[in-house]
Amino acid sequence: MTKKTLKTALLAVLAVSLLLAAGCASKDNTAGTPDTDKTATIKIGYLPITHALPLYVDNELFADSLKSVKLELVKFGSWPELVDALNAGQIDGASMLIELAMKAKEQGIDLKAVALGHRDGNAVVVSNDISNVSDLKGKTFAIPSKLSSHNILLYLMLKNNGLEYTDVNIVELPPPEMPAALSEGRISGYLVAEPFGAIAVAGGNGKLLFESHELWTDSVCCGLVLRNDFIEKNRAASEEFIAAYLEAGQQAESKDQAIKDIALKYLKVEPQVLELSLQWILYENLELSEKDYNRLRDYLVEMGLSEAPPAYDAFVDSSFYDKET
Ligand code: ZN
Repeated sequence: MTKKTLKTALLAVLAVSLLLAAGCASKDNTAGTPDTDKTATIKIGYLPITHALPLYVDNELFADSLKSVKLELVKFGSWPELVDALNAGQIDGASMLIELAMKAKEQGIDLKAVALGHRDGNAVVVSNDISNVSDLKGKTFAIPSKLSSHNILLYLMLKNNGLEYTDVNIVELPPPEMPAALSEGRISGYLVAEPFGAIAVAGGNGKLLFESHELWTDSVCCGLVLRNDFIEKNRAASEEFIAAYLEAGQQAESKDQAIKDIALKYLKVEPQVLELSLQWILYENLELSEKDYNRLRDYLVEMGLSEAPPAYDAFVDSSFYDKET
């Protein structure tokens, strides 16, 4: 090696070292700087369902730019586990079936619904031998929980088609078991959070009987719920988090490839299942209106699922988006 080539080689090594150092430094900065400024950490529980997509988009696209709060998502395997953690204060909030949060509020846990998880997005899926609602008479039909909008949608579907709620054998099943239960003939239909309906339809083991908007216009299903003690202690952080969440919902509504990639990261389903699931759901305007909430309350009372569901003003904190309009 000549002196000149040695010098060139040394310069090249130096340049690479500097680039690496710069890369590390900038990486350290992006990871470290916001944290030092963030005074609060907000832990939000979720289940891996299409209904919680705005939360995933929030985490992937907006969390790093939040100035006053660090977002930490906590995954759960079932609603009861999530509810226990929320009620115990192990998490600060959740994207969850809103009826479960209303029940907790009724039982004295101070929760506030601050946004919707989604709009529409539920599907009545039945086995291929069922052609209409009356075919379900005497058959077994699965829902995730009596306290769910899925149960209300089922009630409305039966009522609209001249069947009594008791004409169908209604069972509660964990959502991931439903597609297999349908394909094995243990149940004749189910209604649950997505993507579990789309799994059966995309796989040819079931078919779509109704989309939720055909049974209940502007149905309320999942909500973004926060513990009120967190809101009171961290007002600015809550405002910033919720504004980003609502923006994430708008982004999710584009359903473009970047959004699909985020969904697939959290849901672990086949792309064609996600595609179908996204056709049934909307994420625009995730504000929870008094009119839509009150209709949900009325149904819960009419079905005998709750004697005194919390009033809108006691349970829904609309101050976050009232400010934006
Ligand atoms: Zn939902």
